[in-house]
Amino acid sequence: MAINKENFLSICKELDDRKVALVAVSKTKSVEDIQHLYDLGHRDFGENYVQELVDKSTNLPGDIRWHFIGHLQTNKVKYIAPFVYLIHGVESFKLLQEINKQAAKNNRVIDALLQVHIADEETKFGLDEQELKDLINNDANSLMKNIRIVGLMGMASFSTDMNQVRTEFRKLKNIFNTLQLPARGSELLISNSPVPILSMGMSGDYKIAIEEGSTMVRIGSLLFGAR
Ligand SMILES: *Cc1c(COP(=O)(O)O)cnc(C)c1O
Repeated sequence: MAINKENFLSICKELDDRKVALVAVSKTKSVEDIQHLYDLGHRDFGENYVQELVDKSTNLPGDIRWHFIGHLQTNKVKYIAPFVYLIHGVESFKLLQEINKQAAKNNRVIDALLQVHIADEETKFGLDEQELKDLINNDANSLMKNIRIVGLMGMASFSTDMNQVRTEFRKLKNIFNTLQLPARGSELLISNSPVPILSMGMSGDYKIAIEEGSTMVRIGSLLFGAR
């Protein structure tokens, strides 16, 4: 299946205007499709599965910035630690520790986002507000020199009720505003000024997410077609 170039160009324009970064979610899609978007100038791609990400990274250009957006198991961190650019879904102290450990082994600092549970669905992963605060305020964090928490990530309910979706994004943005997070280097973002990352919004709800303050959207099907 071919990529949707028209959607890509219009979404880029829309995001550019509002200084929002685009992660093209390429899970289950072919190396050829990713290369096609790469050839149009895109560099940020998101994957959900460790093995698939590792395979694709070895078969595609080295300057792609790979985002891990799925549920990451502790025992698999080591496979992506050498090259992953940003890990979106961290939700436990144990995982933070493991990422720090594997990043140290690779002599690098890995950036990560904490995932917050905002949806009205038990199936979605993430921390509640208290767990998030506990994790951020954990004194042991300062000992972790090889991981940097640079923002938050969240997924709204899979719902046709856009008021509900908006309310959930707004909640995440409010939590985000209460935190003191380090500004991420400007190389990541379209924006010229470094800002902490608020990763929210997918194909079906990214417009609302942007209106509610997202700085990074993760879009798959609008660019690559349905999975
Ligand atoms: C698959 C996925 C996306 C992209 O979903 P689309 O609806 O295809 O845009 C975004 N974020 C996460 C965490 C995903 O798993």
